Order: sequence, then structure tokens, then C-alpha cells
Amino acid sequence: MSTRKRWHRYFMDIAEKVATRATCDRKHVGAVIVSDKTILSTGYNGSIRGAPHCDDVGHMMEDGHCIRTVHAEVNAVAQAARNGVRVDGATVYVTLLPCWSCFKTIANAGIKKVIFSEIYGTEKEFQRLALAAKATNIEILHLLEETANATVADFVSIHTYDIVDYRYSRDSDEVEENN
Ligand SMILES: [Zn+2]
Ligand SMILES: [Zn+2]
Repeated sequence: MSTRKRWHRYFMDIAEKVATRATCDRKHVGAVIVSDKTILSTGYNGSIRGAPHCDDVGHMMEDGHCIRTVHAEVNAVAQAARNGVRVDGATVYVTLLPCWSCFKTIANAGIKKVIFSEIYGTEKEFQRLALAAKATNIEILHLLEETANATVADFVSIHTYDIVDYRYSRDSDEVEENN
């Protein structure tokens, strides 16, 4: 069997690389928009073009969130728009589950599939996303850790998560963060 990296790993690895350019250290996120195995656009979370970065001037906190940055997914869509690249029907690989605001942009840009690697947000946000994805026919897939067992699925649709699984994975995240 070929040992070449599978496409979804390849694009997620690139999204992780893209995330290293992020300028708000509260969370580094990278997004790669792909169609027909070709990268159309990339984005990471950073300030408005030309404006100062969190890394240089500190965060812009409001209600517990830093609002200075444009999120990775929106930057990827904006980069495509600047360059006149059509993203209708494309897939976005993103290192973190999109927030509600980014999901709305993704949906209206015509992106049909979201593949993410880390779960993020509250239970309420997660449920809202799952419902909206179903209603808009957008697939949201969790890319699982690579395992030696090839029979284990690579992806899990967020619709298959029940809230118990979700809580469990969030709790384990939080334990890591507190250490
Ligand atoms: Zn910030
Ligand atoms: Zn977002």
C-alpha cells in the first residue's frame, strides 16, 4: 500500500502551517479552500490589512473574546474575492471548528464542505452549527487523529456526535489547557 499522504491529511497539514502566520496568540487558526485537489485560497486569523497586530499592541477584548482579528475562514474567502477566484462548491479545511459568524460566510460563499480538526465553542454554539449545517446541506466533518487501524473512519460528521461525546472532548481539551 502506498505510504503517500492522503489528500485530507495533506490539506489539513497545510492549514496547520498557514495557522503559524496568525497574529493573535489567543488562538492560531488556519484555513485552506480547496476544489478538485487544488488550493484556491488560504487564510489565517489576523488584523485588518495594514492595522496593528495583537502580537504587537495587545488584544482588543470584548465579552471575553479578542475581536481584533478577521478569522481564518473569512480571510480565505476574502483572499479569493480579491483574486477573483470562485469558491462556489469548494471545501474548506480549517484547524478549528468554525464559529457561527464564519459559518455564515462559508455558507454564503457557496462552500459545501467543512473539514476541521479541533472542536471549539460552547455546547449551544455547537448545536446551532449542527442544525444550520443540516438545513443548508453543508457537510461538517471532524478529521480524526490518524490511527494505525485503517478500518477506523477518517472523518466523523458532527451530526453523529451526541452532546455526551462533545462534552467529553471539550473536557479533555480544557484539562490540557489548564496544565
Ligand atoms: Zn487578539
Ligand atoms: Zn470564526
